Amino acid sequence: MSSEAATPASPRLVVGIDLGTTNSLAAIRAGKGARVLRDADGEPLIPSVVCFHPDGRTLVGREAKAERLTHPDRTVFSIKRLIGRSVHELGDEPKRLPYPIVAGERDLPRVRVGERQWSPEEISALILQRVKQTAEQALGQPVQHAVVTVPAWFDDAQRQATKDAAALAGLDCLRILNEPTAAALAYGIDGSKDGTALVYDLGGGTFDVSILRIDDGVFRVLSTSGDTHLGGDDFDELLGQRILAALPRVAGKAGALEDPYVLQAVRKAAESLKIKLSSAERADLQLDLGARGAVTLTVTRAEFEAAIAPLVQRTLDCVQRAVKDAGLRLEQIDDVVLVGGSTRVPMVRARLRGMLGKEPHTGVDPDLAVALGASIQADVLAGNDRSLLPLDVIPLSLGIETLGGAVQKLILRNSTIPTSVTEEFSTGVDNQTAVDLNVFQGERELAKDCRRLGHFKLRGIPPLPAGLPRIAVTFLVDADGVLRVTAREQRTGAEASIQIVPSFGLTRDEVRRMMLDSIENAQADYVAREAIDVRNKAEAMVRGTQKALALAELPPDQTYAVQKAVKALGKLLAANADAAALKQGCDDLTKVTATIADDVISAAVAKALREEQQGS
Ligand code: AMP
Repeated sequence: MSSEAATPASPRLVVGIDLGTTNSLAAIRAGKGARVLRDADGEPLIPSVVCFHPDGRTLVGREAKAERLTHPDRTVFSIKRLIGRSVHELGDEPKRLPYPIVAGERDLPRVRVGERQWSPEEISALILQRVKQTAEQALGQPVQHAVVTVPAWFDDAQRQATKDAAALAGLDCLRILNEPTAAALAYGIDGSKDGTALVYDLGGGTFDVSILRIDDGVFRVLSTSGDTHLGGDDFDELLGQRILAALPRVAGKAGALEDPYVLQAVRKAAESLKIKLSSAERADLQLDLGARGAVTLTVTRAEFEAAIAPLVQRTLDCVQRAVKDAGLRLEQIDDVVLVGGSTRVPMVRARLRGMLGKEPHTGVDPDLAVALGASIQADVLAGNDRSLLPLDVIPLSLGIETLGGAVQKLILRNSTIPTSVTEEFSTGVDNQTAVDLNVFQGERELAKDCRRLGHFKLRGIPPLPAGLPRIAVTFLVDADGVLRVTAREQRTGAEASIQIVPSFGLTRDEVRRMMLDSIENAQADYVAREAIDVRNKAEAMVRGTQKALALAELPPDQTYAVQKAVKALGKLLAANADAAALKQGCDDLTKVTATIADDVISAAVAKALREEQQGS
């Protein structure tokens, strides 16, 4: 044995990274425990903020956050809301952000700073670079490999864009992991026991709830729900309104409302009141705004709770929905896991406890849980622990458009990834040598109601009668949720494929809307789909029967009867008759052909034999 072979390979270092909307951080697992990696000041959280300072410096993290008021148009935050999506898909998101967002190539958003435009991936990469540096300083060695977390509802494009950001930051992202799965892992739900977990994640500006099923050590996300604009910032806003209302009018209240420095001071004061109220029954505020006046205020927890009750109720409505979508009842949830700083609000915990009838787990710092869990998964991928295999699901069904504008779904919503499905298709017209493949996402039956993800053409199909070429279409979604669609003509081996590029992201609200649409329109969709199916069937029957008639030599009376039924069906097709009439036409034709099917076949066989003999 050579000396190299005898040396044990040094274990690979893989960190877990929580790339958050507000804050990001890294963690590592060492032995049985996991720990977050802190900067020189002992701070684990890196604000997900980048400032392109006019003096040419690029600031990241706390220094960048400090510039939000002085350089609002050059300080980029909440970039996670933009990554992997097109401008069109962002809706009114850009209006909520103070920095300029423009449409770049392929309608992808770009942040404009002076002359330069930045992609969300580049900005996320700057944040990830800072996380990487912090981790390297804390560990005293280079970090190259990572597991990066994303919301469970992130689609293919958003996951791919996050991976691209990691690559730009010089990180090899070994796995994209769902945030709720990471949180469950952090709470010791390690797959050793089967069950269900509800992950309730209430941060500063976003709310997510996910239902996980753990079976034989495998984690699956059964459903997700939430609100992309609901969180602790809204609680602050409500307290801020109370503070502003208490500002003396003489100081010019209208002016104060417009002054960003006053608003910032009020927001800060509101947040600190809120945080005090998490551990005390009442909190006092003394805020001195100089020329703007001063406020002295006492807020009780009961007052605060009355103010935020409707917001907390909204989160509970999402919990209900997620549990229902998962096909479960509330009492079937085994574990309740809390993530996000706002789950420290006692009322949030109490209401959840009341609703689910069990105590939520609180043993892990809710700001650190996702990164800690990611580090556990990182450890598995580093080869140190092979006992866990968290899996993810697809948020919306994926399929291709078929004849007449229907969508044939190949991968169903909530399928576990990675996954691959192959189905065979054929041509709709004789001698067709190319087919267009349109890839769709959504729950509706018709292509026009779904979202087109992309399209490509398969050429090189041998010219054959319609229905004979065999085209295998494969949908493959890899472990990171990236979709590749391949079409292959089985006889010639001609092949074409497409990978879905990052301009097709969907917001969670859109995913939810598409789901609701599909439920609301289920009946109408069924009817429309049936109409297309019956039309396709009628067309195929007319074509097929005409061919069989030409081939078979039937007695004239039978030929006449069949021709009459074919003609009648053809007329119905030409007149765009409704599904019921077409169905009747198909049935009539079937009745006529059924009685002579055997004759047709034997006549066709006889004719083929005769031709062969003549040819030889
Ligand atoms: P995250 O986005 O998970 O970092 O959560 C940040 C949110 O948690 C902010 O709105 C904070 O004000 C809020 N938060 C942090 N600590 C507390 C606390 N002790 N009580 C209430 N809210 C808190």
